[in-house]
Amino acid sequence: MRFAYGRLPWRRGAVLGSALLVLVTAPAASTATERSGPAPARSVILLIGDGMGDAEITAARNYSVGAAGRLAMDTLDASGRRTTYAVDERGRPVYVTDSAAGATAWATGRRTVNGRVSKSHDTDRPMPTLLELARDRGYATGSVTTASVADATPAALTAHVTDRSCKGPADMAACPADTRAGGGEGSIAEQTVAARPDVLLGGGADHFAQTVTDGPFRGRTVTQQARAAGYQVVRDRTQLAAARPGRPVLGLFAPEYVPVEWTGPPAAPGGTAPQRCATRNPGRPAGTPDLAESTRAALDLLTARAHHRGAPGRGFFLQVEGASIDDRAHEADPCGQLGETLAFDRAVAAALDHAERHPRTLVIVTADHGHATQILPHDARPAGLSATLVTDEGGVMQLGYGTALPGETQEHTGVPVPVAARGPLADRVRGVQDNTSLFGTVTAALGLR
Ligand SMILES: [Zn+2]
Repeated sequence: MRFAYGRLPWRRGAVLGSALLVLVTAPAASTATERSGPAPARSVILLIGDGMGDAEITAARNYSVGAAGRLAMDTLDASGRRTTYAVDERGRPVYVTDSAAGATAWATGRRTVNGRVSKSHDTDRPMPTLLELARDRGYATGSVTTASVADATPAALTAHVTDRSCKGPADMAACPADTRAGGGEGSIAEQTVAARPDVLLGGGADHFAQTVTDGPFRGRTVTQQARAAGYQVVRDRTQLAAARPGRPVLGLFAPEYVPVEWTGPPAAPGGTAPQRCATRNPGRPAGTPDLAESTRAALDLLTARAHHRGAPGRGFFLQVEGASIDDRAHEADPCGQLGETLAFDRAVAAALDHAERHPRTLVIVTADHGHATQILPHDARPAGLSATLVTDEGGVMQLGYGTALPGETQEHTGVPVPVAARGPLADRVRGVQDNTSLFGTVTAALGLR
C-alpha cells in the first residue's frame, strides 16, 4: 500500500490507523497513553552538524577556545557514538553514507540507499518521519538550516522523494514516480510546504521560486503555494524579527546556501603558509541572520505556537542543521568549515539556553557522517591538500584533506559520529548506537508511539 502523507491524506490515514487499532485491541487501547502519563519530554531540539565528525569538532575547538577549552557542544551530560552506514537496494551495508540516507536514518528509523529521501531502500515507498509524527500528535514543528530548505537533511523530515536532487518542480528528472503527473506528491519544496511545519528557515529561494507544473497549484510558484497555505514568507533578519506566531513562517535568506561566516585560502597541494581566518565574509549580505539567530527565532515562534495550540503538555520538535560544515569540507576550505562549525556551536548554545529556561526539553547534538578533515603534525607533508592555521591560542595546526585527488570534491568518511544529549532520556545516547536509534529516542521522548 502506498503510504499516504502530506496534508489531508496523511491525517485521514492517521485517523484510519487509530480507528483500526481501536477495533483490534479495544477496549484498552484508547486509554493506554493516558495511563502511561505525559511524555518524558515536552520538546525536542535535534541539532545536526552536517559532516561534523570528531576531527571537524576538534579542529574548531583547537582554533577557537584552544585544545584545553570546551565548546558548547562539549558540555552535554551524556555522550556516545552513532554508526553512519547506508544500505543498497537489497539491504546490504554501504559503508559511507550521504546526507539523504544519513538523515533518513534518524527521521524514519530506517536505513535507505544513498541519495534517497525518507523512502524505503527496496520498494521506494514513503516512510513516516519524526516531524510528521510529532505534527500529527499536536506538537509544533520546525526546521532550520544553512542549506536550502529543500536540501537533503531538512527534506528528510518534510518530503519523500527517490532522489535528493528533486528540490523544485523544475528539478524532477531523477524522480519520475514523485511527479504529480506520475501520481506522486511533487518536488521537495512542494511537499515541504504541504507538510506545513510551523517554522522553516534557511536558504533555497531559487527552488521555491520555480513554477509548479501539476496539481492544485499549477502555474504558481512554490512560494505562492506557501502564501496560499498561510505562510508568512520572510527574506531577512528584520522580516524574521517581525514574524508572528499566529501563522507558519517560511524564511528564505539566500538563493541556495546561506553565505558562510568565515573565509580564507583553501588547502593546497604542499600546504599553505601559516595563516589566520577572515572572520567576516564580505559576500554575506548584512541582513542575513546567522544560525544561532535563526535558531532563537524558531525557538520563540515554536514556544508561542505550542502554547496556543491547545495540546496540553506538548511543546515542539525542532531540527537545526549546520549544513556548510560539510559543504566547505568538500571544497577543502578550512576557514569556511571552521566558521560554520563555530556558528553551529553558537546554535547549540542557544538551544541549551532555551532548555535551561524550559524544563523537559531534550537537546541532542550529532552529525550525519564524518568528513575529510585530518589534524596532522605541523611538519607533516601529506600527499593530499593541506593548510596551516595559527589558532587563537597561538598554536600551529595543519589540516589535511586527502579523500579525493586535488581538484576533485573531497569525500565523506564512514566513521561513527559523536552524539551528545541533555534532558529527558539523554542517557539513551550513551555507548555505540545504531544510526537509526535516534528515531526511537525522539519518539520515546515525545510519546509518539
Ligand atoms: Zn556532503
